[in-house]
This record gives sequence, C-alpha cells and structure tokens, in this order.
Amino acid sequence: MREAGRLSQISTSMIRKMFEIVEKAKKEGRDIVSLTIGEPDFDTPREVIERACKAMNAGYTHYTSNFGLEELREAIAEKYGVSISNVMVTAGGSEALINASLAFIEEGTRVVIPTPNFLSYFTYAKMCGAKIEQVKTHDTNYTPDPDRINEVMDRDVSVVFLNYPNNPTGAVISERDARAIVEIAADNGAVVVSDEIYDQIYYDVKPASLAGYENVVCVNGFSKSLAMTGWRIGFTIADEKLLDSMLKVHQVNGVCAPAFAQKAVAEVMAEGIFDKLLSRMVSEFRKRRDYVYSELSKIYDVIKPEGAFYMFINVKEDCMVYAEKLLEYGVAVTPGLPFGDYNETYVRISYANSMENLKKAVDGIKNYESQRA
Ligand code: PLP
Repeated sequence: MREAGRLSQISTSMIRKMFEIVEKAKKEGRDIVSLTIGEPDFDTPREVIERACKAMNAGYTHYTSNFGLEELREAIAEKYGVSISNVMVTAGGSEALINASLAFIEEGTRVVIPTPNFLSYFTYAKMCGAKIEQVKTHDTNYTPDPDRINEVMDRDVSVVFLNYPNNPTGAVISERDARAIVEIAADNGAVVVSDEIYDQIYYDVKPASLAGYENVVCVNGFSKSLAMTGWRIGFTIADEKLLDSMLKVHQVNGVCAPAFAQKAVAEVMAEGIFDKLLSRMVSEFRKRRDYVYSELSKIYDVIKPEGAFYMFINVKEDCMVYAEKLLEYGVAVTPGLPFGDYNETYVRISYANSMENLKKAVDGIKNYESQRA
C-alpha cells in the first residue's frame, strides 16, 4: 500500500520521538512535570457540563444544520459584531483551519507563515501542495513586521496565516500591523486566515479581531476559552462568499459540531455567564504567567507573553538536546523545531499546569542551568 504523495513532506517523527522520550522517563519511575500541555489544565466548567447533560436528555443528539445551531450562531455573531450569516460552527478550530486551507490554498501557490507559529499551518500548506514562505519574527517581538510581509507578497500567494495571541509565543499583534497585513494581502488577492482561538485568554490589551474584512477568515472556538478541547466545538467568521467555499469542505468533513455541546455553549453565552467562567481561568493563568516570567527572565532572554498560556525561550543550545537533558531534571518541554525555521535553539513551555508543578519545574530548570554554567 502506498501513502498519497500529498503527505510525503509531512512527518510525525519529532512529536513521536519526544513522546517516546517522556514515556521512557516515566517508565523509569522518574517524576516528570510536563510543560508540554497544549490545553487548559482546568476541567470544563460545571455550568457547561450541566447544560450539556440537559441538552442530551432533551434530544440534542442528532445532526444540526451544517452552519450550526441558530442560537449559537446568534450568540457568536453578537459577540463579534457580525451578522449570523457570517458564522459557521465547526468541529473544533482544527476543522475550520483545514476547511479554509482546502478552500483557499491552490496547489503550487505560496503560503505565508510567520515563524514561530502553530505547527499545523505548515502541515496544511504541505497537504495542499503549496510552497511555504516563512517570515521571521524573533527580532520584532514575535509579531510580523508588515514591511517584511509586503516583501514576500505577490499574486502567487494564496493564503497568509496569522495567529494572535500566538502559539508558541503568547505574542499579540498590534491592531495597526494586523490591519496593514490584511490590506497587503487584499492588494495581492490573498486570503488571511486569522486563527483567534486564544483571543479570550489575554492579560493586558484585548486582542483585536479581524472579523469583518472581505478577505479574512477568522477561526475560533471554545476549546481553550471554556476548557473544552474534547468537545470539538469551533467556529469560523467570514464573508458569505468565503463561507460558501468552506461549506463545500465542511459538509463532507466535520459536517456539524456535537449538538449538545453547541446547545450548552449557546446557553452559557445567552445567560451571560461566559465571561465569569472565562475570567476564573484567565486570572489563574495570569498568576502563573507572572511567576514563570519573573523566574525564567532571570535566566533567559524571554519576551513576556500577552496572551494564551505559552512562553517561547531561547535556551542557546540545540533544542532537542536541551529537551532531552532537562528530562533528567524532571521537566518536559516542547522543542522549538516544529514551530518553523530559526527555532533550533528555542523551546516552548506551557504554563497550563498547577502552581505547585510550575515551582517544581522552575527549580528543575534552575538546577539544569546551574550545572551548565
Ligand atoms: N489553533 C491553535 C493556534 C492552537 O494552538 C490549537 C490547539 O492547540 C488549535 C488551533 C486547535 O484547536 P481545536 O482544539 O479547537 O481544534
């Protein structure tokens, strides 16, 4: 049997290797604090679970419309100041991302991805047979300089991926730069896929949404904001013409998000308790960010994250070697390589973990660094 050619450039080896290394360490009985977690460590709020159970008992166990339950679309439209006709509910943010990729990345075109960035964008671009153009952001606070985007743009670019607050850096782009990039893309006939999945998890300045632009597909969801990664509920906001193209994929891909999950989230939003549930979690993340930043900035050159729950650190050593050696000090981190070019000496840490574990991890990192010095 032969794997399809479109997967030939895609590898799972690094993720598998790190997984195997951590599993081996655990089997050897080592106590490892994992800073590799890509989801909130909080349980889905009781308030959501109760409403989901009620919805299941009331028969919300079937397909919904491909676009999603009307009451959820209405709540999302109201929150983002758009029309309900611009909202499509999807089976998680990931489904929305692949719908957008299959709809707008033409084979042989170029896809612009600022680096470092969420590793899935590289996979989608490769699957669609596109060439990847990476734009470095390490020296511009991990957000792309519009002039650098402009330099690589031409009519061959089909899609530009943006993700702010960013995974893996926690950086938030300024509204001015984001809008400048959208305009540059529009001038070149390109679609901007703005992945705003962390837009509710921010610490100082509220990230601006790019919803409402004719050439922008906003991808979002409740995986992170309501700690619901296992429920698979995301959404897309876009111009109706763009939504129509994505519907061609969605109708045979995610089809719809689970009905009871849609109903539960719709109720939480309509009853006005969404913000309360969110702020409980964000205030915990803020304490952890402040702690981890204050400790690690004494050792490394780090940029203070403005959102999400990640920090990206230049450890000035091969990231695979560092990650493997740090395990001996009881800490697992994610090597920077999968997040794009120029990340060979970087690692991502996730502070979606208890304060107690974060303290243990910081001690482990300090011990490792003191023997390295
Ligand atoms: N986008 C980014 C930037 C992410 O970090 C993630 C998950 O880690 C996703 C999308 C996927 O979200 P979902 O679980 O809703 O598919």
